[in-house]
Amino acid sequence: MQVQRVVLNSRPGKNGAPVPENFRLEEINLAPDLKDGEVLVRTLYLSVDPYMRCRMNEDTGADYLTPWQISKFVDGGGVGLIDSSRCNNFVAGDVVISFNWPWQTHAVMTGSDLQKVDPQLVDGHLSYFLGAVGITGLTALLGIREKGHITKRANHTMVVSGAAGACGSIAGQIGRLDGCVRVVGICGSDEKCKAIVEDLGFSTAINYHLEDVPMRLKESCPDGIDVYFDNVGGAISDAVIAQMNNGSHIILCGQISQYNKDVPYPPPLSEETQKNLQSKNITRERFTVLNYMSKADAALCELSQWIKSGRIKVLETVVNGIENIGDAFCSMMKGGNIGKQIIKISH
Ligand code: NDP
Repeated sequence: MQVQRVVLNSRPGKNGAPVPENFRLEEINLAPDLKDGEVLVRTLYLSVDPYMRCRMNEDTGADYLTPWQISKFVDGGGVGLIDSSRCNNFVAGDVVISFNWPWQTHAVMTGSDLQKVDPQLVDGHLSYFLGAVGITGLTALLGIREKGHITKRANHTMVVSGAAGACGSIAGQIGRLDGCVRVVGICGSDEKCKAIVEDLGFSTAINYHLEDVPMRLKESCPDGIDVYFDNVGGAISDAVIAQMNNGSHIILCGQISQYNKDVPYPPPLSEETQKNLQSKNITRERFTVLNYMSKADAALCELSQWIKSGRIKVLETVVNGIENIGDAFCSMMKGGNIGKQIIKISH
């Protein structure tokens, strides 16, 4: 059968923003003869995520991430349907996910690389398995529970950077549900600010492109900041950390403002910010969701229930067609998405 796939065409360099031309669409002939243990899958949705920027480099800088190879297929989070199976664990029609789904319209995969999921968990919104009821939802929930130290009735103020993105939009809502009295989001456009306040229930939103972040934080966090869910790092995080309370906590989720630069992870902090952390005894431990997967099943059930009951709202930006996945990745890296960036491959 003829299938379309996306391969890595070129690398952006360690110090460069990715461009759509870094990816190339190809048509290949897929022989659907399955060996024992293999399945033929049809791709429904693919995910593009910030960590993929490291996979575009020859050296990812992280031992748990392998680099993508030039002219070889690109892979990441995906959800799809089993078309045919020679693996005992799956039958045609099963919905399956993988962290290593090839950017391909159909693919032959090894059954052991796939996990069967229950569509009822997401009320049929299968793309949620890549976001709110998948790795980004888990990152928000487990990041907060493991590193946030939110205490109900302690009148905590939480700040979220990257607040209109996949992790940030869920993290702010969980902060509210877990008992914060104030949740302030920082993000990159007025449209995003409106969405997180009016649709998601954030107390205040700050547009970091247009507004004076330190001044707006002072206004909107009169009792200082107790918990900071940090998706972006850089100058925004310096401004937040400067207004954090003694004994407060940072959830070091990501540092996307530094991903197009040749710096180690986590990137070094300025001397002043380092001093702020020490003098105010602020915790800032690295958080990697993959280290907490033993807690994933329970956390996914909690996320699913919150979403079904309407207590958490899910935002997505959906782009159609595998030919647009490179553009969608580059757009997400520059803030083109509200909520989770999803690519719809087939019905
Ligand atoms: P998002 O959906 O948040 O998309 C990325 C967003 O980053 C963009 O929409 C953009 O929003 C923002 N952004 C881009 N460049 C900058 C910049 N220079 N300064 C400030 N904001 C910027 O992605 P995810 O939710 O998937 O990921 C968010 C973070 O979480 C990333 O840092 C990622 O690496 C991290 N992560 C960490 C995990 C872990 O285990 N620790 C697991 C999963 C993700 P805007 O318009 O607001 O600028």
